[in-house]
Amino acid sequence: MRPISVYVHVPFCTYKCGYCDFNAYAGLESLIPAYRDALVAEIGGYAEVLAGREIATVGFGGGTPSEMPPEGIAAVLDALRAAAPIAGGAEITLEANPGTLTGEHLAGLRSAGVTRLSLGAQSFDAGELRFLDRIHSPEATASALRLARGAGFESVNLDLMYGLPGQTLAAWEASLRAAIALEPDHLSCYCLTVEEGTPLARRVRAGTVATPDGDLAADTYDRAGELLADAGFAQYELSNWARPGHESRHNRVYWTWGEYLGIGAGAHGFVGGERSENIAHPRAYIEAAMRGMRGSAVLAAYTPDAAMMIDDYVSSCLRVTEGFALDAFAREFGGRLEAMAPRWLADCEAAGWLERADGRLRLTLRGRQLHSEVVVRLMGALGAV
Ligand code: SF4
Repeated sequence: MRPISVYVHVPFCTYKCGYCDFNAYAGLESLIPAYRDALVAEIGGYAEVLAGREIATVGFGGGTPSEMPPEGIAAVLDALRAAAPIAGGAEITLEANPGTLTGEHLAGLRSAGVTRLSLGAQSFDAGELRFLDRIHSPEATASALRLARGAGFESVNLDLMYGLPGQTLAAWEASLRAAIALEPDHLSCYCLTVEEGTPLARRVRAGTVATPDGDLAADTYDRAGELLADAGFAQYELSNWARPGHESRHNRVYWTWGEYLGIGAGAHGFVGGERSENIAHPRAYIEAAMRGMRGSAVLAAYTPDAAMMIDDYVSSCLRVTEGFALDAFAREFGGRLEAMAPRWLADCEAAGWLERADGRLRLTLRGRQLHSEVVVRLMGALGAV
């Protein structure tokens, strides 16, 4: 059976952090029961798409999926199982806020079928957490990880953020060392970006918060790689490191051009070469999804043109450290990348950003910080073809 993955978006948060531009809402918790029913109805509408397929992985993201009680998560997984078998040993991953977890909640998630937990630690510096408007303390993250182990989670990720205004290399190292000391299985390190329209962007514009230092962020990224390698974590994606056997199989689907259904408010999907995006606001989403027909909650769907597809493929597949096989690219697109964008390839190789080895194309260590630049240049090259 052809595998497919499922992303489920849960858009509720206790508090809307000042830097966040995700599809996330505070103060709408009363909608959670209706939202759970809408997720189940939306899945029902995809019965035909899921028929004859096997669900390889499921990812609950947000927002804060742990705002939904374990019974809600179980109801969603039951609806998926009713539509298609979930593969034995499938990764079912859920993002959680360390500030809201109890042992009982975690045990409930584990018995609902969740296999992997991703904790939004962000930092182990109390001042940085306050700056980010996070509701948890460093101690709460440590406690959540202990509770997760007690509940039987054998794969736990910690999310960390670097590139914060005023963050020193020493402060970042201290946070990272504190994270490593907790012995997670996986670490995701993301650079803070100041997104337009957020309270943080307004503060930066008003001059009350310093503009993040890009050069320091680059040094911080390099230091993260060194410290994590020393601690036994292997980098397998631009922002992700794992102990052997703990790479996220669900996230790999996004980075390797796999198919996934997007369920929930604002969720994105990629099935049959078509990209789709659901209605973003939870109230409007609930109303649309409850119609229970295929695509009733979809706001927009489109099939990217050839140049966009190629750019999308290369952009996604270059995120993983092993890159992609040039023969696989040729099979997918009916032509060789080397012939479609020879100048781009030569220039990026000469600059030391890309390298070819064993028939694969991948970013060099140096190129990992220049992924966006490499992709933008490819788009330009393809536009000129
Ligand atoms: S908890 Fe995460 S999703 Fe929710 S507002 Fe904060 S950053 Fe955004």
